[in-house]
Amino acid sequence: MTDCIFCKIVGGDIPADKLHDDDLCIAFNDIHPKADIHILVVPKEHIATVADLEEGKHDHLVGHMVNVANKLAKREGAQGYRIQFNVGEKGGQEVFHVHMHLMGWK
Ligand code: AMP
Ligand code: ZN
Repeated sequence: MTDCIFCKIVGGDIPADKLHDDDLCIAFNDIHPKADIHILVVPKEHIATVADLEEGKHDHLVGHMVNVANKLAKREGAQGYRIQFNVGEKGGQEVFHVHMHLMGWK
């Protein structure tokens, strides 16, 4: 999606503080951190919200993103952390490309 900021980060058109990159997702530091560690785990595929994940097609994706978040939390030295998806405007979602917030505290 050409006008999607996270697609542009996935495509390398906008720089980000990237911490992870694999076939399915990337992870980078949130530009406005709300915790000691605040990382976004973002699928490479443009999917607007978690509510748009398709049964069958995307079953593996969220589990994979949690695995990535767990590894990053450990690597970054989080003592405890929170994993969050905001879904829809009423749910606090501002960027309409799926992203998992990993917020951790040292
Ligand atoms: P949400 O409210 O769940 O849609 O969260 C969007 C998050 O993306 C916010 O925490 C923003 O600070 C973050 N964000 C927006 N643009 C960028 C960017 N260019 N690089 C890193 N994080 C960003
Ligand atoms: Zn996108």
